[in-house]
Amino acid sequence: MANEVKVSEISSRHIPLPMQREIRKRCGFGCVICGLPLYEYDHLLGWANVKRHVGEEITLLCNQHHREKTAELLPIEKVREANKTPFNLREGVSKPYVLHYSGAECEVEIGKNLFSTRDGGHGTTLVPISIDGTALLRFVLEDGHLLLNLNLFDEYNRLVLQILDNQLCYVPSQWDIQLTARNLIVREAARRILIEMVFEVPNRVVVRRGRFLRNGVEVLVGPEHVVIVNKSGRLTGNIMKNVRAGIVIGPHKPPLPGVIKMENVSRYLGDRAAVKRWVKECFEAGC
Ligand SMILES: [Zn+2]
Repeated sequence: MANEVKVSEISSRHIPLPMQREIRKRCGFGCVICGLPLYEYDHLLGWANVKRHVGEEITLLCNQHHREKTAELLPIEKVREANKTPFNLREGVSKPYVLHYSGAECEVEIGKNLFSTRDGGHGTTLVPISIDGTALLRFVLEDGHLLLNLNLFDEYNRLVLQILDNQLCYVPSQWDIQLTARNLIVREAARRILIEMVFEVPNRVVVRRGRFLRNGVEVLVGPEHVVIVNKSGRLTGNIMKNVRAGIVIGPHKPPLPGVIKMENVSRYLGDRAAVKRWVKECFEAGC
């Protein structure tokens, strides 16, 4: 059978990683019944019965629905039905998952740069990255609540993942989305990470790698530094305590008091080789 891995070849219950990703994508990166992005891989026919890994025979179930299936409180027909039309794919957006942030202080680490603040009264915010008036990452400290917000765009300027006041949800059309323990990884393609972040609750978030994109501006995050591609700027080892805003690029109304402010950045940084070729062709054609 195609797409089958016999247990003798792997001699364990471990599902091969490429097959896991195919299953995640096919299931909309969530439990097929309820959409929750915290799930387990379930052999529809029962592992003990089949002892083989076939992608089409494996689905995603959250802890509750997995237990219900095992206890035969959830009929297998219902799971099969949901497996054909997974919740998140039907809805076009994932079921919101609530992150447990709280406290009167917060800290964000991005590529070895630290941003932190403490509650200074109504509507205190910490905005480590903002582009053209859109806070890509933001903590709001309000009435004893700590609310994480994230707007993640792809290179077509489409919002693909959002955390709105601690509620995480995404469009299930990405190549891969994985929430494993505290780590969230979104991949645009094999070996192309859009974001890798760690939710260190109750009051800290770490962005390890990623690309913050908005309106032609690109901010790259690596394990050791942040690069603002449009300005060839590189940041590392900065500790910014009690700040309201960190990297602020483009116009903001009202102005945001960023530690690193870049109002004017070029948006024309596509394929430079193609631009050079185009200039050369124009010159040679005498236009
Ligand atoms: Zn579920």
